Amino acid sequence: MGVRLRITSLYAKATRRNLVIGQTVEAADLVPRHLPARAAILVASNGRPSWAAFTCPCGNGHQLMISLIAPRRASWQLSGPRRAPTIHPSIDVVAGGHRCHFWIRRGHVEWADPPRTRAHPREEET
Ligand SMILES: [Zn+2]
Repeated sequence: MGVRLRITSLYAKATRRNLVIGQTVEAADLVPRHLPARAAILVASNGRPSWAAFTCPCGNGHQLMISLIAPRRASWQLSGPRRAPTIHPSIDVVAGGHRCHFWIRRGHVEWADPPRTRAHPREEET
């Protein structure tokens, strides 16, 4: 799995502690290729949220897409206002050789373990 890194993501790392719900699109294939730094894109058709796509708050620049559809084996619940969403349960992913495990509660990113950023991202890029 390739993880594309951008220089800007390293600079944004220190301040990226919040997440809001930004744009809503009708279908998953309408999610923009370049996601905003701190706003999740919500996929909702007929008003029913099905996916949330956002840039991982760890600062390494990888993108996450989580299912909000309950019957799926791995799915999350989105609640709260768009400017301060809560996503339950925690998001726990392994990407590019590091683990990102965090909660989003009332728009705040709370880490289960401190995110590990890479000193030499290019070397670990796959
Ligand atoms: Zn991450």
